Amino acid sequence: MNPTPQQLIEWDKHYVWHAFTQMASYDPLIIESAEGCELIDLDGRRLIDGVSSMWCNVHGHRHPVIDAAIVAQMGKVAHVTNLGCSNSTTIRLAKRLADLTPGDLDHVFFCSDGASALEVAIKLAFQYWHQCDNPQPGKTKYIGFEDAYHGDTIGTISVGGVDKFNSVFKPLMFPVHRLPIPDRRTPSLETSCEHHLQILEDTLAEHHESIAAVVIEPLVLGAAGMIVQPHGYLRGVRELTRKYNVLLIADEVAVGLGRTGTMFGCQQEEVVPDILCLGKGLTGGYLPMSAAIASTEIWNAYLGDFSEAKQLCHGHTFGGNPLSAAAALATLDLFDQEETLAGSPAKIERIAGHLQTLANHPHVGDVRQYGMIAAVELVKDRTTGEPFPWTERHGHQVCQYALNHGLWIRPLGNVLVIMPPLAISLEQIDTICQVISDGIDFVTRNKADGNE
Ligand SMILES: *Cc1c(COP(=O)(O)O)cnc(C)c1O
Repeated sequence: MNPTPQQLIEWDKHYVWHAFTQMASYDPLIIESAEGCELIDLDGRRLIDGVSSMWCNVHGHRHPVIDAAIVAQMGKVAHVTNLGCSNSTTIRLAKRLADLTPGDLDHVFFCSDGASALEVAIKLAFQYWHQCDNPQPGKTKYIGFEDAYHGDTIGTISVGGVDKFNSVFKPLMFPVHRLPIPDRRTPSLETSCEHHLQILEDTLAEHHESIAAVVIEPLVLGAAGMIVQPHGYLRGVRELTRKYNVLLIADEVAVGLGRTGTMFGCQQEEVVPDILCLGKGLTGGYLPMSAAIASTEIWNAYLGDFSEAKQLCHGHTFGGNPLSAAAALATLDLFDQEETLAGSPAKIERIAGHLQTLANHPHVGDVRQYGMIAAVELVKDRTTGEPFPWTERHGHQVCQYALNHGLWIRPLGNVLVIMPPLAISLEQIDTICQVISDGIDFVTRNKADGNE
């Protein structure tokens, strides 16, 4: 017997431990199916997927090309290990990624989650300094950034900087030089960028002999609330890491796969990192797959006679899974077939237009955007910038309103995120922004009425 909807709700609340969720007050939203850029819940209610199912869907749900690619792969084999073994689909994907990524980022280590790709990148950089032509085994430390997010494993929370999630785990984390990152909101962009590059340079000048790598979310700090870096910062970071002989790890788990308007975020500033990490959108948001893509310089340091034990001793059971690889190949095919990136500028502009209007709202403190990534920050008082108390959950309240008006979005505190699939239509963008605008009105007016 199939469970009733009521049973599913009860079971969901009791048996499923949801990520980043207070289970004592969890209110289930149960999705039964999806179509294009819409999710359909148990009651048949349609919701626009306004945050791409946590920033990963690219071409829409149940895209016939991706569905067919996965089904075709199932007709061959669903899984083979990549420990000393391979399959044709995963090989084709690696070649495709090597061709697509800039520079000589040609060597693809596959994992299943964004965090595990970052873990690989962190280890690759560390061991590299033991084995490269001019070994510097003293390079054992990392530079990371305040508020950066790279995943939730011990290594990634160490290099990340979201203290409010992780303070309890401090004793488990390794120490990292954590630097401030420039934010476009600061008054003078020029000075802000230069100032922050100077901080980085000061740190590198003093500590470069002990630093293995800089780990950065290029262009936009995602989980921090879509904080956009000023133009030229990433380029500056690349130049400084080269100058001081430190590796650069670019975490493109959120910004990769077309989100910023180019296939990879680093391309916006013509930067080639030493290791590029992809995740989320790599399979179009269909199946778990991530990758740490390394330069030839790094790859070469790991080559040698078996007895030298230079190989990377790291692996994930499902790394390079053929079903995921088939979804990823189809996702990349669709970028060509549907000219996805050529379609983005009109959508980016449409979002920008709506943001301009939203920026005038008395309870909107800031709007920000980079390509198809946008955010609206709610504040109590826009003249002073005073935030709403986080316990009042204004962001969450607007999202609840949205849910009742055909839109699913998930906030970052009091920051509303707009990050739909790249396949979203202009009309759907209009709807998303209208519902958000109405939701902010509704929530803040209720509050204002209560207060006055
Ligand atoms: C989501 C995210 C990760 C972590 O990916 P998971 O698949 O959730 O482990 C890492 N870095 C960035 C920038 C992300 O947005």
